[in-house]
Amino acid sequence: MGVLPALLNVAEDPLPCSHEPDLWYADDASSRARACAKCAQCPFWESCRAAGREGREYGIWGGEDEAGRAAAGCAPKGWRPGARRRRMASRELGTGLATRPPKAA
Ligand code: SF4
Repeated sequence: MGVLPALLNVAEDPLPCSHEPDLWYADDASSRARACAKCAQCPFWESCRAAGREGREYGIWGGEDEAGRAAAGCAPKGWRPGARRRRMASRELGTGLATRPPKAA
């Protein structure tokens, strides 16, 4: 993963998201639920959630996804409700849209 530990200024090893980074950006609900469950065990979830909101990030941050950040008034730039579902449908149809947004600078 790399981005979040750098923002939080902590080593990557103790963080659950450093072991299965793709889980935190997965499209399927099951994987996202697993990521959120792991965030609930993380000692940094509050500051992580705040960083996700502040940076208007994509993916799971502090157990919160894009919809959660949008509900808090911190939607990621360019994010629209239902975009993930449309992306998944597009992938199933083979139209090949990008699955992960670019990282913020
Ligand atoms: S709360 Fe979740 S995303 Fe944030 S550092 Fe912990 S495991 Fe990673």
